[in-house]
Formats: sequence, C-alpha cells, structure tokens
Amino acid sequence: MPIVNMTEVLARQILKDPELQKLLPCHCDQCLDDVLAMALNHLPPRYATTDEGQLYVQVEYLRPQLRSDILRELTQAALRVSSHPHHPGSGDADASPAEDEGGLRA
Ligand SMILES: [Zn+2]
Repeated sequence: MPIVNMTEVLARQILKDPELQKLLPCHCDQCLDDVLAMALNHLPPRYATTDEGQLYVQVEYLRPQLRSDILRELTQAALRVSSHPHHPGSGDADASPAEDEGGLRA
C-alpha cells in the first residue's frame, strides 16, 4: 500500500491559493517546485496510507491544524524564491545595474 506525505499533499493544494500565487514572481514548474521543496524542508512530514477515501478523510482532519503552518512556510519560501530565482532571465528588468560606477581609476 503506497504511503503519501500529507504535509506535501496539503502544501500542493495551498500553493494554488490565489494569495500565494500573488507572491510568486514566476509560475513555472521550476519555481513552484523550489517553493514547495523549501517549505517542506521546514515542516514535519505526516505520512498516511492511501486507502480509498481514507486519504481525503485524513486531509480534512489535518487541514485546520496544518494549514496555517504550511501557509506560513510557503509564504516565506515564495518570498525567498522571488528574490533568488534559480533560473536567470525572467525578471531582470527592475534590477539596478551596479557596473557603471566610474570606469577608470587613476
Ligand atoms: Zn520560474
């Protein structure tokens, strides 16, 4: 019988929340996975077996307890990924270039 990490299941659901989506600078799979992985590293796993229907019962039972913790970690992770995205080239427009500050030194 396969087991799943309930924290991950809930985190994937919460990651689709519009409030969180607003914090994300980029919605590609890479950045979403970065946010998810970063948040899950800070959260305790809750493993459950996937019996038919049982999974959903447990999700509903755990949701209120875990949701605020998961939401907090996802929010922090989203902010960190947004300031340090793994892939370049998708948002350098507002970066201030620091190269051109004087040229030659005598
Ligand atoms: Zn991205």
